[in-house]
Amino acid sequence: MNWRVWVMSILRKGNLRKMYKDNLAFQYAHSQQEIDNYVDERARAIYLYHLRNNPGYQQFLVSKGVKLDEAENLAWDRIPLMTKQDLRDADDIVIKSNVYNYTKTGGSTNEPFEYPASKDSALSMWPSHWIVHEQCGVKPYSPILMLMAYNNATKSLAKKIYHWLSNFYTYDSFLMTDSQMAQMCQTIRRKKIQLIYGYSSSINQFLRYLRDTDTHINIKGIVTTSDNRIKENYLLAREYCACDVFDQYGAHDGDIFAFECKCHDGLHILHNKCKIEIIDNAIITTALQNTAMPFIRYVSGDMTHGDLIKTKCACGRTLYRLQGVAGRNTYIFKDLDGRELSVIYFTYPFDSDMDILQYQVVERNDEKLVVNFISNKYTLDDIEKKYRHQVAEVVKRPVEFVLNEEIIRLKNGKVPLFVKQK
Ligand SMILES: [Zn+2]
Repeated sequence: MNWRVWVMSILRKGNLRKMYKDNLAFQYAHSQQEIDNYVDERARAIYLYHLRNNPGYQQFLVSKGVKLDEAENLAWDRIPLMTKQDLRDADDIVIKSNVYNYTKTGGSTNEPFEYPASKDSALSMWPSHWIVHEQCGVKPYSPILMLMAYNNATKSLAKKIYHWLSNFYTYDSFLMTDSQMAQMCQTIRRKKIQLIYGYSSSINQFLRYLRDTDTHINIKGIVTTSDNRIKENYLLAREYCACDVFDQYGAHDGDIFAFECKCHDGLHILHNKCKIEIIDNAIITTALQNTAMPFIRYVSGDMTHGDLIKTKCACGRTLYRLQGVAGRNTYIFKDLDGRELSVIYFTYPFDSDMDILQYQVVERNDEKLVVNFISNKYTLDDIEKKYRHQVAEVVKRPVEFVLNEEIIRLKNGKVPLFVKQK
């Protein structure tokens, strides 16, 4: 274990090494029955903790019709679901003596949300990430190139020190110009970068740059994160970086952490952090460690394609798996018959088509939906033949297919699966 882990453990007053070791052992250790028992017990415990100690949570339960004298014995599936808005609206729902730090979620697709985490919840973030790095043969705090949603120049001194200690080399994910990407290549060589981390879309721009300039780099892995996994990344990474790509899904509000393994067959969930339930494809999470704010049966706002996969993976891990992340629950449009549908309702088949490298759905002027496909194999005619019938079966609104048009990016560099344009 290198000195950075020790220094960080001292600075952050927690044993990061132990958290990492626990995670490593956890991945392979438990049967389905053991996982269910463990998760259910811990979920019940955190529920009872907030029920007994958190006046704001009690008020929330009462507002949802729960009788407090019956709350202790409430069946799990009768505990009310809670949303970000419920937490925003609640008074006195933070247990201040348990707050370790505050985090703010991005304000790109919805309103920013600031929430507290208790110590274990806050500190578990990097030991969770290191599990993914370990698959690439990368040790904690090895040099990493991070594509982030902000400009280096605006970093505070504290952030600069933190990044230096963490061995992060950061670049702005929205400024993927040729000159920045050339600089990135230099940094990768000079600093012996082992891993690149960023949004799928920014990673995709970088990999295409490597292809277009016929540049080969030597790294151990790429970790992508976003709601829109891009298959082309896997092919390009193998060719130009001689490494694999692992998609990762995390939502710190709710303490979800899930990651792909080399089998690329779903996202393994670290269940020592959260209990996950899937209700109508929505990902519902209970943060098992956060004693500062209740994230109990919390509607994460993210959607998946189906139930959890509970069988052992070919990689040997017994951790349950999410069947991918299919976008936000705000990816909803109204069909002609008034039904509200998620775009994933008709985009689902595109995900398993290896010749569609990326796609995006744009709603123009509340009228037609436009699906922009990125592909170097298909013609528009091919796509019409293959998918027109399937889409028409589920959507009554006019849907136009276009090919290889420019993908719309948000201000922070993220590429949403669904965009509404006025
Ligand atoms: Zn696996």
